[in-house]
Amino acid sequence: MPIMICFEKGLSCPTVVCDQCEKRIAQAEDGGYFFSPGTREEGTTVPLIFLHKPRCNDRYSAKHGRLEGFNELVVLPDYLAETLGLRPKTWSML
Ligand SMILES: [Zn+2]
Repeated sequence: MPIMICFEKGLSCPTVVCDQCEKRIAQAEDGGYFFSPGTREEGTTVPLIFLHKPRCNDRYSAKHGRLEGFNELVVLPDYLAETLGLRPKTWSML
């Protein structure tokens, strides 16, 4: 359920929801995205899990096992922009 629409003040706002507590992650610094790396074969996809950190990450891991793939939520918009063809590949040169 991670990316949802939240209706606020007459707007339809894309919103990240924590997969553990099902509450909105209101500040990017409070959350992360997690995934199982799987086989990492070219072209394969795996689902993203969004969690508050560390509280909900710890609870989710205790229940479902630890997910090895992780990144800070603050970097997700830039990575999505790249995969959606919205920006040059500046981040890949870092
Ligand atoms: Zn949470």
